[in-house]
Amino acid sequence: MTVLNRPSMGPIRLRPGDESLQRQQVRPGTVRRILPYARPYRWHVALLLTVTAVDACIAAASPLILKYIIDHGILPGHLDVVVWLSLALAGLAVVSAGVVYVQSRCSGRVGEGVVYELRTQVFAHVQQQPLAFFTRTQTGKLISRLNTDVAGARQAVTTLLTQAVSTVLTLALVLGAMFYLSWQITVAALVMIPLFLIPARLLTRRMQRITRSLMEQDAEMSSMMTERFNVSGAMLAKLYGRPQDEEELFAGKAAQVRDLAVKLVVWGRLLPIIVTILTTFTTALVYGLGGALTIDGAIEFGTLVAMVALLMRLYGPVNELSTMQATATVALVSFDRVFEVLDLKPLITERPGAKALRLEAGAENDGGPATDAPDIEFEAVSFRYPSADEVSMASLEAAASRKHERSDAVPQEILHELSFRAPAGKLTALVGPSGAGKTTITQLVPRMYDPNAGTVRIGGHDIRELTLASLRENVGVVTQESHLFHDTLRANLIYARPGADEAELIEACKAALMWDTISALPEGLDTVVGDRGYRLSGGEKQRVALARLLLKAPPIVVLDEATAHLDSESEAAIQQALKTALAGRTSLVIAHRLSTIREADQILVVEDGRICESGTHEELLAQAGLYADLYHTQFSHQATERKHIGRRPSPSAVIAGSAQSGA
Ligand code: ADP
Repeated sequence: MTVLNRPSMGPIRLRPGDESLQRQQVRPGTVRRILPYARPYRWHVALLLTVTAVDACIAAASPLILKYIIDHGILPGHLDVVVWLSLALAGLAVVSAGVVYVQSRCSGRVGEGVVYELRTQVFAHVQQQPLAFFTRTQTGKLISRLNTDVAGARQAVTTLLTQAVSTVLTLALVLGAMFYLSWQITVAALVMIPLFLIPARLLTRRMQRITRSLMEQDAEMSSMMTERFNVSGAMLAKLYGRPQDEEELFAGKAAQVRDLAVKLVVWGRLLPIIVTILTTFTTALVYGLGGALTIDGAIEFGTLVAMVALLMRLYGPVNELSTMQATATVALVSFDRVFEVLDLKPLITERPGAKALRLEAGAENDGGPATDAPDIEFEAVSFRYPSADEVSMASLEAAASRKHERSDAVPQEILHELSFRAPAGKLTALVGPSGAGKTTITQLVPRMYDPNAGTVRIGGHDIRELTLASLRENVGVVTQESHLFHDTLRANLIYARPGADEAELIEACKAALMWDTISALPEGLDTVVGDRGYRLSGGEKQRVALARLLLKAPPIVVLDEATAHLDSESEAAIQQALKTALAGRTSLVIAHRLSTIREADQILVVEDGRICESGTHEELLAQAGLYADLYHTQFSHQATERKHIGRRPSPSAVIAGSAQSGA
């Protein structure tokens, strides 16, 4: 016998981040934005509310039937009344069960439908964000928006909706019935309500505080585990960590979790106990007062029984009413936090009426040279990386990352009115000291970023006038650290061109000089690679990336040559693969190898965000400028195959951030 047996009762459940949830203000208009999400399910919502209302009516009607069974059936000895009303009670119980079924079906359909809609929207929206967004955002926080907050939003549409209707209706009907039966007992019972609510509220608040600390401690413990248990973290801990200290640190965190959890269990048990005592008191009071009134003949015996039954149905809604605002806040803030992500404007967008860049992508099947490659032109391009406020949300970043940043701080300009032309079908090499801006230049071609001033053109078209899909279709990029998904080699390759068949895959791998390695693997193309799969060496990874590029066969290639120290055999293989990959394509290569530079049709020397020299290897050597300097300190080593480091390793002379020693 407890009034707390309704599933929606009790303290609201807290989850990580709830503290901020309750403090956070809900932005105006949030409720209005939620409605469209429920609109496709309006019939489900209507059915849900109807059956909830039916349920409330049954809750108030059953005690009244009880009264009639006693007063008009049992006491006067009318068996037929007793039988019919008992059957009616049983019938109502069946209807009530049906209501629960329909309720859970409808609320599941509506809630999960809204979750689906929000999740897919956020996913698609996040994918449109610029690269800078991902460099700043903490993945865990972003994923939590997709999981936890979206789930919180579901609570807003289902629990809250039904709770509000059920609570208000039940309260009105039950109170109405009680007043109708006996106003004296009703008043006495209402007086007891604060006695019941106050300790419940205090306890709930205390439990929320404990839950919050428990969540925080739990998160700290988990983050220590994820930090230490990934491959690089585990290696660092092995090489530099002190196992004893680490264990103690972890044990300390685990002990805090243990203590808080024990507290929570103890306090959690206390609440039902207090509630039971108080409801027993109230029941005793009703029986005492009602009993006296019955003896006096002021009320009938059946009325007394019905009053006790109604009382049992009163406290649930009362308690729900008191926590509903907090539940509503949490649910609305969840919606708001999801909307916050959806409101983030992607920096790189397609202009209305953007045209598709149509080029002959060359002999696709053999990954051979493109026949109609366009040129790339930079005209007076100035660029600074976007500031934090332009690309991301403070709440998704690590707390520490913005502490030292002023929100109005404008980042330094990296490229200054830079102009050049990379001729069609030719190899243009970018060389220069580390931090000169070479990577930045290459990122402007596939529109990872847009310049702040000036224009980047491909085949004479301003790339901002082109559709993003056609731009990315025509520009192939290979970065130094080629990422492979944790999936089969086949899936990783096909990612570049979903329609490719087996023969094309093999052809691309052969051209990238990777086929011998792949076919020697027991599972060949179906070998799982990536973080936790088969470990490809740096050189192999690069060649898989090249195979992926060849499969895509774009007319334009942007490439950052690997600086990793490769053994000379794979170096030769890569060189050969590169030659195939770049032949006939317009390529912009951040070059680290003398062989690549020598083959370049044009070398651009970048320094401090400007092109300070350009020409062929011989022309630039003759100029005796920065290039000649770089050549003598770095590249000549590769030419003479000497392995020791040059005598003048001034910082400005380090090519592309890494002294390439493996020649
Ligand atoms: P390079 O490739 O020639 O070594 P980069 O283009 O990588 O040079 O870097 C040029 C400058 O831009 C450097 O000062 C670097 O610190 C800065 N930079 C690079 N990436 C970012 C970024 N994502 N956000 C802000 N600044 C950046």
